[in-house]
Amino acid sequence: MNGKDIQQAQGQSPEDRGSSKPASPNPKYVLRIRRIMVPIDFSEYSVSALRYARAFAQHFGASLILLHVNEPTVFPSELGYAPIAAETLDQQLRDDAHNRLKALAAECALEGLKADAEIRVGRPFNEIVTAAQELDADMIIIATHGFTGLTHVLMGSTAERVVRHARCPVLVVRENEREFVAPAAESGEKQRQD
Ligand code: ADP
Repeated sequence: MNGKDIQQAQGQSPEDRGSSKPASPNPKYVLRIRRIMVPIDFSEYSVSALRYARAFAQHFGASLILLHVNEPTVFPSELGYAPIAAETLDQQLRDDAHNRLKALAAECALEGLKADAEIRVGRPFNEIVTAAQELDADMIIIATHGFTGLTHVLMGSTAERVVRHARCPVLVVRENEREFVAPAAESGEKQRQD
């Protein structure tokens, strides 16, 4: 069976490729993606995962949950820092992260997407997995790397642990891989040329 036969067997003509038309009018299974969680550490990588999440949300009519996890600051007490200073700093960091998430949510709203900003405190992978379950996320879209950006390792530790422990499917977006998200105008132009 060559590529053309396979497309025809799947009810897909070459013209349908790249369009969002379902392959069959009576599909046996449908994808019900209503809520997509996007963990954001504000690195370029996580913002690129958000581009995928926005495109998926548009496609499936889903809403987005933008989640940032604040790791509590640990000050060495022998240096004379009072715990109250750490608490104040953490509160400031949380407020700042919340404002930045709300700004990203507002950008999504301009595209007609519903996006909620969620802040949690703790270990990132743990909080991401727990929040996804508590908030009923159907899918998590996460980048392979974050601030550490050790690109020689396949995945950073947060991404890897989320993949291992999440109770829902996880789409892992790797930088410089074959991209399938593109600006809408550009992809429309390409489809017309094809
Ligand atoms: P690295 O080790 O290269 O920093 P990570 O696995 O820590 O890679 O990060 C991968 C992704 O995990 C980030 O792009 C982000 O989506 C998510 N992530 C990491 N830390 C946090 C955090 N504190 N809050 C929300 N998401 C996070």
